[in-house]
Amino acid sequence: MQDRFGRTINYLRLALTEACNFRCPYCAPGGHSTPSASPLSVGEIEAVVRAALNLGIMHVRLTGGEPLLRRDILEIVRAIRSVEGIQDLSLTTNGFFLEELAHPLADAGLTRVTVSLDSLHRERFAEIVGTDAFDRVWRGIQAAEQAGLAPLKLNVVVLRGINDDEISDLARLTVARPWQVRFIELMPVGNDPAAQEYFARRFMPIREVQAHLPELEPAGAVRGNGPARVYHLPGARGTLGFITPMSDHFCAACNRIRVTARGEARSCLFGEAGANLRPSTSEGVTAVEPLLVRAILSKPERHSAGGTCAVEAAAMSAIGG
Ligand code: SAM
Ligand code: SF4
Repeated sequence: MQDRFGRTINYLRLALTEACNFRCPYCAPGGHSTPSASPLSVGEIEAVVRAALNLGIMHVRLTGGEPLLRRDILEIVRAIRSVEGIQDLSLTTNGFFLEELAHPLADAGLTRVTVSLDSLHRERFAEIVGTDAFDRVWRGIQAAEQAGLAPLKLNVVVLRGINDDEISDLARLTVARPWQVRFIELMPVGNDPAAQEYFARRFMPIREVQAHLPELEPAGAVRGNGPARVYHLPGARGTLGFITPMSDHFCAACNRIRVTARGEARSCLFGEAGANLRPSTSEGVTAVEPLLVRAILSKPERHSAGGTCAVEAAAMSAIGG
């Protein structure tokens, strides 16, 4: 369906849990809170996806928190896959559980996967995420590739003074591999002084990231690009995506609606407008559908982050990025 500004909404980002086993400082500056409400069950998730499909939403991305912490993740994937008409079912993960889950996820019907990877240095990676997991995540990435969860994407949040010296090395991963490495501008999360100071110190605009890669060439149309602007290195098998929520927002082309693990539909990552689906999710598709419509119609024309507005603290992992 279309929102009030004529944008077609065809993409649902569904957070499966608020919990996470990593502690990325830019995601939940105050630390991850223990989830206060149980996440949507498999049946509730299926009702939300069926309602979304009725509105023309055929692409679903599972996120979190860390979606692979859900013990019923394979059941969830199978349930969504059973909804005829869903064309693309993808997942964003920190990769910690991917080594053992990549093949079962592919067998259950997952189409493709995005793994977050902010550094190629084991110790630096551990410092960012709060646990020594680089080797494990790297094996998870290989497993995803072997399982055919393609095109495989890697998300890199660029942090000035932390990983900006790795831009070239991360980009070069795509020379020999058919992956897409996506450089993402840091978004402000939380309004307290410490969070604001973190953002001011670490934010690096994408134009500076691109200055590290003078040999970039624009790439043609690439499947599943979303808001990324896509380039490649000369002769590379893979591509590079650049995502600029701050320096050049892509609100005019926004095609998404978000549902949190607690069942709140959010019309924008920045702001609380939307609708609470929870009371209706157990009543089935016809009860959920009008609430999703209401959330879609509450989509703002554009976000105001970078002005007075940040993603509310502890919300990134609740909403799913
Ligand atoms: N746990 C999974 C992961 O890390 O991939 C999925 C959830 S995470 C919230 C989804 C994406 O949001 C990740 O790629 C993460 O790097 C990104 N993200 C989190 N906080 C961010 C921030 N403040 N600015 C930009 N991207 C952020
Ligand atoms: Fe966890 Fe992902 Fe947030 Fe990192 S970005 S803390 S892995 S939810």
